[in-house]
Amino acid sequence: MRGTSIFFSHTVTNQSHTLHEYRTRGGYGGLTRALTGGMQPADVEKEVMASGLQGRGGAGFPVGTKWSFVNKKSPVIYLACNADEGEPGTFKDRWILEHSPHQLIEGVLLASYALGVRHAFIYIRGEFDLPLRRLQGALDEARHAGLVGERIFGTEFSCDIVIHRGAGAYVCGEESSLLNSLEGRKGFPRNKPPFPAVKGLYQRPTVVNNVESLATVPWIIVNGGAAYAAIGVKKNPGTRLFGISGHVERPGLYERPTGYPLKKIIEVDAGGVLGGRRLKAVIPGGSSTPILTAAEIVNVTLDVESMVRAGSMMGSGGIIVIAEGTCMVRLLQVLTRFYAHESCGQCTPCREGTDWMNRILERILAGRGVAGDLAALRAIPAGIMGNTVCALGDAASMPVLSFIKKFGAEFDYFVEHGRSMNAGRLAA
Ligand code: SF4
Repeated sequence: MRGTSIFFSHTVTNQSHTLHEYRTRGGYGGLTRALTGGMQPADVEKEVMASGLQGRGGAGFPVGTKWSFVNKKSPVIYLACNADEGEPGTFKDRWILEHSPHQLIEGVLLASYALGVRHAFIYIRGEFDLPLRRLQGALDEARHAGLVGERIFGTEFSCDIVIHRGAGAYVCGEESSLLNSLEGRKGFPRNKPPFPAVKGLYQRPTVVNNVESLATVPWIIVNGGAAYAAIGVKKNPGTRLFGISGHVERPGLYERPTGYPLKKIIEVDAGGVLGGRRLKAVIPGGSSTPILTAAEIVNVTLDVESMVRAGSMMGSGGIIVIAEGTCMVRLLQVLTRFYAHESCGQCTPCREGTDWMNRILERILAGRGVAGDLAALRAIPAGIMGNTVCALGDAASMPVLSFIKKFGAEFDYFVEHGRSMNAGRLAA
């Protein structure tokens, strides 16, 4: 990492997750500054607002603005940290939980101080084992050291943090189903409005923030919102954690400033396409974001505007690299099966539509595709998008539309010949 680093400023070791190591690298300096340096809760919010930090969970909503929606005079306000990272291709929050859990706890405490939260929750993905153990260990350490609990640093600020383990549903990463799940209900997304900032957990004003977003807040409080706003591109500043997976020589997690070239992170940082093959396509922000062809990424940079201009999204920062020779029909079916399986079934267009798309793709792969299949795969998303309670319907539809638009010839070939035009080459 060159330049400013918020997550890789130190050498990562097998002790990086401990309180001792975190303090050695300046950890809890932001909390100390806020609580004992004369910062009022509104000052913390002001710095986060000035930083321009946008949510890192996928939607990209400005964090400070989200905090400002909460009525601070409400007698009870909750904070829920969304650690239910489940988007295929995304593994950045897992890294934070495993290697820098105190950074998240400090971020939760700073957000709680700013918002007037007495009880904060961290909703962690059910499948996460090591991340849960590391987070629980860090919370125990923090509580023992007086960093969590009553009268922190001898001030009036008290805050407890509760870790809640999910049961493994992807849709519980959607903020309102996360809140339902926290309440012990079925993890169904809620209709909005009302939004969580007005009526969230137990009908109280609630802020839901992603792990990476909250873990960035300590750096902002130590260095100032203006310093953060000066990193990367002006409209969506800062660094981001990019998880690179798929057909690359060096898959892994890379922290880069926004505006960094997509081609460079693949070809230079991640060592290029596996085995020296040619690049075929890239899914740039987690599996639900529209796919880009190799030709389309040439001038794309890792920021919202550039990605939108190219016809895709930054999403959760999970970059999936696809080499020449990959069967796009098979790859799309793998993705579509995931969304069909994870649909909560609450609304008909998503429940039925995701399953129809998956079954059509399964049939094509089995060599039993028929002439109308492609037309159906184009039409079904139109019936889903914008007609569902949550964004999972859109998330399932965008890959289908973009794959068929850009690699339609491969689908036509499969339907006509009953086999992939990439047969015998690289599998998805
Ligand atoms: Fe459930 Fe899908 Fe409707 Fe979301 S869009 S509420 S996942 S059925």
